[in-house]
Amino acid sequence: MSLNHHLRHAEAASPEAIPDQQPREPQPRGAKVHGNHPVDHDEAAARFIAAPHHEHMHDSRLWDLRQQRDAQMHGIEEWEELREHASRVKSHTLANLGDYLEQFTAAAQANGVHVHWARDAAEHNQIVHSIMSDHGARSLIKSKSMLTEECGFREYMAGVGIEVIETDLGERIQQLDDEPPSHIVVPATHKLRTDVAQVFARTLGTDPNNSEVHYLAEQQREKTRPLILQADVGMTGANFAIAENGAIAVCTNEGNADLSANVPPLHIASIGIEKIIPRVADLGVFIRLLSRSALGSPITQYTSHFRGPRPGAEMHFVMVDNGRSERLGDETFWSSLKCIRCSACMNTCPVFRRSGGLSYGATYSGPIGLILDPTMNRRKYSKLPYASTLNGSCTNVCPVKINIHEQIFEWRKVMASEHQPAVAERAMMKAAGVVLSNPRAYRAAVAGADRALRVLPQFAVDIPLNPWATPGRETPQAPRETFHEWYRRTDGGRIDTELPASGEDGSGTEEDQG
Ligand code: SF4
Repeated sequence: MSLNHHLRHAEAASPEAIPDQQPREPQPRGAKVHGNHPVDHDEAAARFIAAPHHEHMHDSRLWDLRQQRDAQMHGIEEWEELREHASRVKSHTLANLGDYLEQFTAAAQANGVHVHWARDAAEHNQIVHSIMSDHGARSLIKSKSMLTEECGFREYMAGVGIEVIETDLGERIQQLDDEPPSHIVVPATHKLRTDVAQVFARTLGTDPNNSEVHYLAEQQREKTRPLILQADVGMTGANFAIAENGAIAVCTNEGNADLSANVPPLHIASIGIEKIIPRVADLGVFIRLLSRSALGSPITQYTSHFRGPRPGAEMHFVMVDNGRSERLGDETFWSSLKCIRCSACMNTCPVFRRSGGLSYGATYSGPIGLILDPTMNRRKYSKLPYASTLNGSCTNVCPVKINIHEQIFEWRKVMASEHQPAVAERAMMKAAGVVLSNPRAYRAAVAGADRALRVLPQFAVDIPLNPWATPGRETPQAPRETFHEWYRRTDGGRIDTELPASGEDGSGTEEDQG
């Protein structure tokens, strides 16, 4: 896989790719974020859906990844055993996290690595800044890391006058466009090639009308490579941190982590404390699952192991908590710490595929975001748990068997108990509770609604008060008889009687439905 890989993921470059549009459809922007105010996913999702080229490309590209993941899964007979094993290794490690962190630290220090501990995002940023200050460093290249996104690292560094250059192509596109990643594996996957051409034209001075992937990748490479070669510090994340030998493993498709770690004389790795696994032997289990679940490829192009500094160089590990130990103590949500950030749950989620990652207004989007984000800010992300159909597909594909959809439902209960839903929504739920708990009231309500749907013209049905009637979706026509009516009429299917012709049962004709 080449540097062009991310551009191909930014838009399906396959035969079904969308032709360059005349006129160009503007790229929909993400959710509007105002401090701690609850993020309105619905509003941002509606804007994404209103951009049909973007919505179609995003939906089909991610579904394609899901199908490739399925094909890989079917090629491995012991897939379910692997998932079960990975889940158990993670549970065991998290149950003994303190011991494994100590073992990892001792082994890393014995390898000549400096190990630091950050309680939160602010401490993480300050530690990295102070390591750089000690070395008089002014520029930093980094490979993609969701943890540094979580810490607001780039913004912090901009504030202290240090230049940060992303080395992952998708992440670099997002950096140049002043947007966060929209997906944890393919950060610019919501963009069309024509969007990338506009971003590069604006920031790198390239031809705005040339959206050919080789041209774009090459231009970017030529402009960024000199910055990479001159950088004072290289930063990576870590997919796995191995307690047994104090090494970290970083998986990329562009080899950019190797650039970050090996070109500058100083390598800093930011590591979430949940990334620990006990043994080198466990690594194979996760490596087999990770890329297959993420992109439907058997393995990432580069699985790089970093164990100690090169001669004459320095290596630092910054171990970050940032709310993880608190989450570990939570009976309901602790298992979200098993996540290996593969993105399979995002690729399969119908809401994510059609609304785009930036509509969540949070570092983590899609199903995993719905259970992680509220642990970081309960008020700001109080509406996110509702951005799910609860169809369970996320749980089915998760390689470490996190019960994602059940946790989303649990978050809804938490939000409801804290009176987070709107007053009107709570009143509707209360009324629904009364009707659903009384069979007579339920049947009367269904019959009444069906009758109303049959006689009212469509424009009178698709009104704002009707939660079904959202843009692009019409309320379906009501059946001429409910199940209960059918059961009564046919004695449960034992009597073969015809349904009276339209009008004889008082339901009106097809034409009546407007
Ligand atoms: S929750 Fe599971 S499926 Fe989703 S990103 Fe994490 S490991 Fe992958």
